[in-house]
Amino acid sequence: MQQLELIPLAHAKLSPSSAHRWLHCPGSVTLEAGMVDEGSEFAKEGTLAHALAERCLIYGTDPPSYVGHAIDGAEVPADMAKPVADYVDYVRSIAEGNTLLVEQRVEFTHWVPDGFGTSDAVVIGNGLCHVIDLKFGQGVRVDAHRNEQAMLYALGVWQTYSPLYEIDTFVLHIHMPRLDYVSEYTITVRELLNWAADVVRPAAQKALSNSVDFKPGEKTCRWCKARSSCRALARFNYELTSSRFDELDEPLEVKVPHTLTVDEIAALLPRLPLLVQWAKDVEEHASSVLSAGGVVPGFKLVEGRSLRQWADEERAANLLLTLGCEPYTQKVISPSQAEKALGKAKAGQIVDLVVKPRGKPSLAPEHDPRPVYNESATVLFEVEK
Ligand code: SF4
Repeated sequence: MQQLELIPLAHAKLSPSSAHRWLHCPGSVTLEAGMVDEGSEFAKEGTLAHALAERCLIYGTDPPSYVGHAIDGAEVPADMAKPVADYVDYVRSIAEGNTLLVEQRVEFTHWVPDGFGTSDAVVIGNGLCHVIDLKFGQGVRVDAHRNEQAMLYALGVWQTYSPLYEIDTFVLHIHMPRLDYVSEYTITVRELLNWAADVVRPAAQKALSNSVDFKPGEKTCRWCKARSSCRALARFNYELTSSRFDELDEPLEVKVPHTLTVDEIAALLPRLPLLVQWAKDVEEHASSVLSAGGVVPGFKLVEGRSLRQWADEERAANLLLTLGCEPYTQKVISPSQAEKALGKAKAGQIVDLVVKPRGKPSLAPEHDPRPVYNESATVLFEVEK
């Protein structure tokens, strides 16, 4: 396995990636101080994907040629090549004939003390500047419209590069190759600088002043390191439930129904993701306190459920054979596994054999781009393209 070197990135206190949080909840900076970010597997995967894309854009190489090689100790898996290649192709198509800057450190210290970030890709030409952000996650779609992280990168590009290049308009791109999703937002330099002066500068000053002004919200709290023990978020969630159910305490049976109305359910639904995530975070926090030898009154750690397994698979298979029992099962690999195994050149030959069963009805907000589920639709299978 060949080892390629990767330079670790520094992080600013008020970073673009946490912009939504500190811009909306200045108290989070106070509360997060000293808390360690343990870094999830998803974050490590994202870091590797960014490093791979960086190499390809700088050296003119393609992601598949890195599969099996290690970047900063992490081996590039085969299934990373295609999505990163999609992003690399996207950047190259925009960069053609223009100036391309990859993984550039940009500073926005005019508005945020010590403010800096590293933009994935910046393309400048003819007064237009494209700021392109790769998001390797496959959970929540991130929209470029008024995206504060991308706007801070643009601000940094403006401060760092406007003395060298003429820029009057920014196009912010968020590319999520694993969701096959690209979002764009255009903003003039004037609009960007107005936002920086009116919103960013005062928010940064407040955030850096040991503020205890907490503003919980689903998006704001989602990645906050303090979310499992933040009192403001706990209060926010308690108030959500108590205020919604208060009126049910009323003994006026005629006026107040004993079951929730659809309007009450509709009001609760958008808040449930935060509530559910918060419940998990609090449980994890309690477990980590107990794991570290602490006390959580009324709770203890016990051994979780585990499944039986063979102590020695080979011996078990041999014994089963002698007992007249077939020990092995055979299963056809999935279309995705087949595509990976066959490669681009041969994958076309299996297309006619691939079908995609209809998914079960799934609850989604009205603005979700997917069409309404049609119970009576006669098409039971559709060919996957
Ligand atoms: S959990 Fe939410 S409210 Fe609490 S500090 Fe973090 S962002 Fe602010």
